[in-house]
Amino acid sequence: MKFDYQSFPTKVSFGSPLLEALEKYTPQGRKSRVFLIAGKRQQGLAAWVQAHPDLELVYHFDQIAQHVPKTLVTEALALVDFATTDLLLAVGGGSAIGLAKALALETKKLIWAAPTTYSGSEMTNIYGISTEGKKTVGRDEVVLPQLIIYDPALTQSLPATIALTSATNALAHLVEGLYAQPNNPLSYQQALMGMQHIQLGYRSFAKGETQEANEQWLMGAYLGGKTLCELPMALHHKAAHVLGGNFGLDHARTHTALLPYILDYQWDYLPELVRQDFNAVWPETRAAQGLWQQLQSLGLALSLQSLGLTAEALPEAAAQISALAFVNPAPTDHKAIYQLLTRAYEGYLS
Ligand code: NAD
Repeated sequence: MKFDYQSFPTKVSFGSPLLEALEKYTPQGRKSRVFLIAGKRQQGLAAWVQAHPDLELVYHFDQIAQHVPKTLVTEALALVDFATTDLLLAVGGGSAIGLAKALALETKKLIWAAPTTYSGSEMTNIYGISTEGKKTVGRDEVVLPQLIIYDPALTQSLPATIALTSATNALAHLVEGLYAQPNNPLSYQQALMGMQHIQLGYRSFAKGETQEANEQWLMGAYLGGKTLCELPMALHHKAAHVLGGNFGLDHARTHTALLPYILDYQWDYLPELVRQDFNAVWPETRAAQGLWQQLQSLGLALSLQSLGLTAEALPEAAAQISALAFVNPAPTDHKAIYQLLTRAYEGYLS
């Protein structure tokens, strides 16, 4: 064995109610000034922060948009004096957490995050900011949340389709974790473990056990985000970011609609041991067929066309993806990516 591994300094509270965890970790004896980033449904939390003896609500910023428009960042930065703010508290999906990250990049303030979806953003040092429809993505330790609170009650309220596509977003991080290069045994095993949790979640969901499904998916999301932070992502992740960030598609639905086609595309280039691990989850000759059938049976949209992408956009999307520099098992030239995107657009697997 020969590998490099970096672990990241985050504290995780899993399973406790949000307010209980906040109470536990709030420094006592001084007022911590909190800039809250959360949608309107978190107004109760804003009131709780305001009333807390050791916290002071500086502002509740509730305008959340996907892919973090730069205009929103500029607007938030102008609202308060961040020099005297102690904490960015983000409670929401990847969009709210993404805005906190963009603010941390400018202000160097600490983030505490409590996710309300399974996007995994809370566990990563990755940020993305969109300017005039073009998204820039980077890594910086300053955007890595210091404390992450996984309260299952926050994700339990997700509508079924958002829950399913968001869980599949987490699955996508874990799938890419098996063939990311360079890799290491810790992140690899963590990706396998996360995939098991997502699978348990799908099964519970299919049986109508939504509470159990939610907890399994939340655990899978945590492991998916951690994997995303520890390993470089490959074609699936890059393609989803181009299609979401530059072509306006919904993040989790795009991950869902792309994943079977990308796994199938990579299949012939994967080491036998990796294929065996995928086959332990989907025993079909090509694991992607099992994945496709599973997602289809859960009622998920599996074509880019159904997400609103136009056929005319495919050559440009393929050009943008193939122009990116990243390590991937299968070739990433324009022609191959265009063919792959065409299959994903039309929604057929072979
Ligand atoms: P999102 O945050 O936009 O949320 C999706 C939808 O779910 C929204 O309409 C939101 O209002 C709703 N929602 C969220 N929580 C809810 C709840 N508990 N109950 C009811 N509705 C709820 O979407 P997302 O998929 O969580 O995040 C996508 C964004 O995050 C994208 O911009 C993506 O690029 C980014 N992201 C970043 C990373 C990273 O590591 N930096 C990782 C994953 C995703």
